[in-house]
Amino acid sequence: KKITIAIDGYSSCGKSTMAKDLAREVGYIYVDTGAMYRSVTLYAMRNGLFNADGSINTGELEQKMGEINISFRLNSETGRPDTYLNGELVEKDIRTMEVSARVSPIAALPFVREALVARQQAMGKEKGIIMDGRDIGTVVFPDAELKIFVTASAEVRAQRRYDELKAKGMPADFDDILKNVKERDYIDSHRDVSPLRKADDAIELDNSNMTIAEQKAWLMQKFNE
Ligand code: C5P
Repeated sequence: KKITIAIDGYSSCGKSTMAKDLAREVGYIYVDTGAMYRSVTLYAMRNGLFNADGSINTGELEQKMGEINISFRLNSETGRPDTYLNGELVEKDIRTMEVSARVSPIAALPFVREALVARQQAMGKEKGIIMDGRDIGTVVFPDAELKIFVTASAEVRAQRRYDELKAKGMPADFDDILKNVKERDYIDSHRDVSPLRKADDAIELDNSNMTIAEQKAWLMQKFNE
């Protein structure tokens, strides 16, 4: 069967791991929308669109949106898609703490959301897609056949992000990560445009005490129901 699957939830709740695993198993396309917001943020950082006080030069960013091309290509080694910004592999660059610290204000800008949501909807024209983010079940694909909303305690999520960064050989400090996770949760759920919330028809999963294998099995069961 070919359906649309929307997976939303808080920062670093393990939704992408779950989504990628299922996509690989059932031969679906996986789209990480967080990577798209992170890519716009990286672009803004590299092009001097953050002012010295940390505020965003929104006028210029809005003009440049058309020049920001984000694509995904399957990595044959990992079996997972890598993110490319204007043709350059940025999979690692978009996961740094610097980007994490700046992405939520970028994602709160209405013109950024409008542009990225349109691209996400275009990618989902064909069924057989798993997309994860914050507003997939509420805004991008309100008609998705299967919607999951993932939660876990902030401490558990920070620990997962810490382990993930360490595993990639990237710098990581637990307290900084916990602070960032909480900050993003707050900004993401309080912004004016499509704030993070559970869609009414989404199934909630608290995976605080679940292993990756257990989450995978849970999602596979929902897929098969
Ligand atoms: O999923 P990830 O943690 O990589 O997302 C990074 C940030 O991008 C989130 O904290 C949020 O601000 C933004 N985002 C969003 N809507 C999405 C996906 C991500 O606002 N659909």
